[in-house]
Amino acid sequence: MGRIRILPDQVANKIAAGEVVERPASVVKEALENSLDAGAASFRIEVESGGRRLIRIADDGCGMLRDDALLAFERHATSKLRDVKDLLSISTLGFRGEALPSIASVSRLLLETRSPDETTGTSIEIAGGKILRCEEAALARGTVVTVRDLFYNVPARKKFLRTEQTELAHIASLVTHYSLAHPGKTFRLTNAVTELLHVTPVATLRERVYQVFGSQVLEELVEIGIREKELRLPPVSVPPSQAIAEYRAEPEEPPTRNFRLSGFFSRPQVQKGNRNSIYIFVNGRLIRDRLLMHALSAAYHNLMPPAAFPFALLFLECDAEEVDVNVHPSKTEVRFRHASFVHDFVRDMIRERLMESRPAPSFSPVPRPAHTEQPAAHLPYSDFSQMLEDEAPPPVTLEEPAEALPEFTLRPAAGPPPRFDFSAPPIEVAPGPPPSGKLLRRPDTHGEFPSEALPAPEMSLSVLSELRPLGQIHESFIIAAGRDGFWIIDQHVAHERILFEQVMKQRAAGRIEMQRLLMPLIVQLTAEQQIDYARIADELYASGFETEPFGNRTIAVKAAPAAVSPSELEKILFEILEIAETELRGASLDDLRRGICASIACRAAIKINTRLDNAKMEWLLRALAATDCPMSCPHGRPIALHYPTRDILKAFHRV
Ligand code: ADP
Ligand code: MG
Repeated sequence: MGRIRILPDQVANKIAAGEVVERPASVVKEALENSLDAGAASFRIEVESGGRRLIRIADDGCGMLRDDALLAFERHATSKLRDVKDLLSISTLGFRGEALPSIASVSRLLLETRSPDETTGTSIEIAGGKILRCEEAALARGTVVTVRDLFYNVPARKKFLRTEQTELAHIASLVTHYSLAHPGKTFRLTNAVTELLHVTPVATLRERVYQVFGSQVLEELVEIGIREKELRLPPVSVPPSQAIAEYRAEPEEPPTRNFRLSGFFSRPQVQKGNRNSIYIFVNGRLIRDRLLMHALSAAYHNLMPPAAFPFALLFLECDAEEVDVNVHPSKTEVRFRHASFVHDFVRDMIRERLMESRPAPSFSPVPRPAHTEQPAAHLPYSDFSQMLEDEAPPPVTLEEPAEALPEFTLRPAAGPPPRFDFSAPPIEVAPGPPPSGKLLRRPDTHGEFPSEALPAPEMSLSVLSELRPLGQIHESFIIAAGRDGFWIIDQHVAHERILFEQVMKQRAAGRIEMQRLLMPLIVQLTAEQQIDYARIADELYASGFETEPFGNRTIAVKAAPAAVSPSELEKILFEILEIAETELRGASLDDLRRGICASIACRAAIKINTRLDNAKMEWLLRALAATDCPMSCPHGRPIALHYPTRDILKAFHRV
């Protein structure tokens, strides 16, 4: 890394100013980002008392020359930026030259650093911003920053710190996610003597996800691969005089920008009550961005209930010019130059991949233990995610970052990582602890299940078309046998999905099947509904509802989609007006359209508590298998649960 310089005022003034150090995790974030910018391959993070007493970050990066080490504590001293135009294409994580002086002004800081260009290193001690000592020291290449007694001189700030465990959860979450962004590097995090995370270099993100979360979680995720899209920029129009001066024999290609998306996200059945499990990196920077959050939710639209969130680990890469990182003091927000392109790209790529995977939900045969009995993960991080999940679902809006984290207790590492929550409760097959292993494996007289007869696990819902319905329970759920175990299908939501896709297709083709009512239905509206009605009257018509105003706050419905029974008509209209009210505020026309189709489908679908004969059940399964998305209903509820043969064998202690 080049030498550090103090930014001239005109550059410094253009930098988003504000508080950098809010809590111990912000110190870790800034120091870790500096180590990453320094090209380090190994990061050792030690904390004590959740970072209140001590934070130490050691790296094997490029280190600093002696003069630079001193200069680094001046405000706006950075080696990463030179002039104003560099602000337009920042490729390093840092650029403001403010972190070190800010941290040093609110703690007792020790910097030990050596550049490979010097034979000895430098050790600098600072307290409350005052340099106490600066001397030569024999040091290994790299940098160690030790921060003690954070906010010791700012009691007001200290009071705002949460408990040790909460601060530690923030730090652990941060380090874990940076470790996911850099699978090729070593990360080790310890709190006093407890090792919280230790990952060694691996070749792929998949392997790193496995190291951090374990194989069970990995199974519940879909990998997106690398998806790319090019944005063609309009050719720059050059005034004629200049055009002559800049004449080139070859006509210039219009400039293009390349966007790449990779990472993992959860199948729709994995539903979280908040956004704490969504991690988005833009050009390697961990950010919290409304636009991308919205794109992610939009990808799951109609696959997940609106108040539920997926797990996501997304990496968006683009040219540095396409993203302005200089919009937030702690660099956690960005602004995209072509925001709607980025939004649609992310939404479409995730949705496409979700559809491709058509994943089958399954459920565990073992009753899910209460949280306190949850086995601790081999990596305590999984503990954090578990704790973060248990947070009461807040009334989150897009603009609100998930802030407050819950308290949690660390347990020693042991056992497999906990599974994600499924929205459907697992069936309880084997209550109580299983008998001893010896007993389990004793050859008995009950007959052996030949292991070669164990079918390959069914991971995709394409198998639905081969299912054999066995009957219903509660006249609501179809039980069906498949090649691998059995399935339970919610008849109402299954039919809802079939109808939803049918209506959406008809809507797209402009051919919604309508039925004319013998007598128009007169519907009385409230003032608010009247306004919503006026706004969406055209859309209603296009969706198969022929209506017209009929006096004051009254409409006459003359025709309706064929699927809807006249007795449901009024209810469904009110439902649609309600969607119009909420959706039109923030969402697009496309969302409204989907909402209308979902309402029609829901009202027209077979109800629960309805007896179905075999032929109807078979038809339902075939039709469901033919849908694009047989895994969840348009409102996001699961449709089919799979109980694999392996789990049956396990429950009967045969494997
Ligand atoms: P910024 O990262 O915005 O440049 P900082 O205050 O975080 O500002 O750091 C100031 C400078 O100190 C950096 O530009 C860099 O040159 C140097 N520096 C900080 N941490 C390290 C490190 N771990 N290894 C090498 N150089 C570092
Ligand atoms: Mg920095």
